[in-house]
Amino acid sequence: MIPATALDGQMPAWRRELVSAVTDPAVLIKLLELPPELLEPARLAARQFGLRVPRSYLDLMEPGNPHDPLLRQVLPIADEMRETPGFGDDPLDEQASTTAGGLVEKYQGRALLLASGHCALHCRYCFRRSFPYAGFNVAGRDAEEEALARLAERSDLQELILSGGDPLALDDGRLAQLVQRLDRIPHLRRLRIHTRLPIAIPSRVTDELCTLLTQTRLAPVLVVHCNHPQELAPDRTQALARLRTIGVTLFNQSVLLAGVNDNLSTLVELAERLFDSGVIPYYIHMLDRVRGAAHFEVPESRAVALQGGLRQRLPGYLVPRLVREVAGAPSKLPMDCLDPVLE
Ligand SMILES: *Cc1c(COP(=O)(O)O)cnc(C)c1O
Ligand code: SF4
Repeated sequence: MIPATALDGQMPAWRRELVSAVTDPAVLIKLLELPPELLEPARLAARQFGLRVPRSYLDLMEPGNPHDPLLRQVLPIADEMRETPGFGDDPLDEQASTTAGGLVEKYQGRALLLASGHCALHCRYCFRRSFPYAGFNVAGRDAEEEALARLAERSDLQELILSGGDPLALDDGRLAQLVQRLDRIPHLRRLRIHTRLPIAIPSRVTDELCTLLTQTRLAPVLVVHCNHPQELAPDRTQALARLRTIGVTLFNQSVLLAGVNDNLSTLVELAERLFDSGVIPYYIHMLDRVRGAAHFEVPESRAVALQGGLRQRLPGYLVPRLVREVAGAPSKLPMDCLDPVLE
């Protein structure tokens, strides 16, 4: 066995942060000077879906504020244990369209690969919080072979999306190998990465990552997942701007979350700061109805009103599309046109 210290020496800074993330609710509550009565419910709710928050994300929170919008995204609370009708374990019926290699084939022209079952941050509203990654052998070698064989056959695809979990939880070496293999599938034109890592741990944007994204023939697109302007501290803006400089097309997707970003001034500021970081707001998602996340739901009428407000306050290119994902639909559905099916 290799001693842990030797391994530490080889580990990139971002991975050290990943493995030393806070996972004990007692530590989180102490570090942020939060009321001790939050501890017991946090422990109980964390049994369903563990707490995970890296230090550099924790540093963006306001100590002593139990309503901090970043804390609210990661702190397990009693509300999660309330059963709500209509909120289940697989709200998008995603397992039905997932093949054994972890490939999700729902839409035309693009397919999504569950490239990793791990995340830097556990978001309490995550619709894959109960996803049985192990059952699909996500990130296993056999799964990768199966997925690549399937992608090679599907000559109707132009784009492959790496998702998860978080695909940037993979090491650069592993990621480079995967990208090289995708590069050799002739019909693929674009490689899209959906990730929260540049927000959770900005040092994840390494030289190696930038190199592997510039060395592929595939046009690189990165969709970062940022929900609140407070997440865009200067180190995050720098990491994103660097990706922009090397030619990565950057978009953002958010989830509309009660008590986090469900007000107009927050969403306007988010769009402004995203643009400052070289990122175009792409989607704002209605919450997927996953068990344990009902307290984050924003009513449709309010969501549509917020989007109307954004249209008035921002240039058109900074207004994200407000969408809901509906199981079985041929695309994500815009909230202002809920009858999308064309023959
Ligand atoms: C969201 C999603 C996509 C990408 O959809 P776009 O509208 O192109 O952003 C692709 N596949 C799956 C399974 C998805 O959930
Ligand atoms: S980073 Fe994405 S996949 Fe991971 S817990 Fe958060 S929302 Fe879910």
